[in-house]
Amino acid sequence: RTFEDAFASYPEVLEQIRKQGFLKPSPIQCQAWPVLLSGRDMIGVAQTGTGKTLAFLLPALIHIEGQSTPRSQRVGPSAIVIAPTRELAIQIDSEVQKYSYRNIKSAVVIGGTARYNQVENLAGVELLIATPGRLCDLVFTERGPNLDITNVTYLVLDEADRMLDMGFEGEIRKVFLNVRPDKQMVMTSATWPQGVRRLASSYMKNPLMVYI
Ligand code: AMP
Repeated sequence: RTFEDAFASYPEVLEQIRKQGFLKPSPIQCQAWPVLLSGRDMIGVAQTGTGKTLAFLLPALIHIEGQSTPRSQRVGPSAIVIAPTRELAIQIDSEVQKYSYRNIKSAVVIGGTARYNQVENLAGVELLIATPGRLCDLVFTERGPNLDITNVTYLVLDEADRMLDMGFEGEIRKVFLNVRPDKQMVMTSATWPQGVRRLASSYMKNPLMVYI
């Protein structure tokens, strides 16, 4: 398969990929793109370095562009990527900067930095990259939420096994219970332990599994 096969209907995405000079899609990308573009849930059991980020990110951008509600009328992000660590969130955000087109508005919210700066950046955000603690902080704050996640229709849980190892299961479940049940969901995990399986079976609909 080629990039052209995967994104025949999305010339702007192809153009962004071309700028990177990649030769061909990686195995997880070949499998993930058609599944995710069809709207189905997916679990990718894959390590870092397999191209997993672009596997879920390009369909996220297409998903956002395909929203029928005009941008100015949308409340809160359409897509959220939850990552276990600040470093990974920042890395995903830098990929977003490379591939984003048509001025899709993205923001990153992570712990350990001033919250007010991040809140200012949330106005009009369409794609949010977040660590679980800060995300819950912004959504479930007693003082009145800074972030509305009720219109999220594309949700990514990146490195789910690491997220559980770090003790974020409570935060993740809280987020899942507060987004629309008809959202599309992607999960990546380097391993496939019981805890991750349980999480997937509680919140995903008939997900396609891809092992790399
Ligand atoms: P990831 O597994 O998402 O952490 O990606 C690892 C690295 O592979 C990143 O630096 C990407 O820019 C790069 N990459 C992603 N897709 C491809 C591809 N199809 N061909 C070559 N490199 C890629």
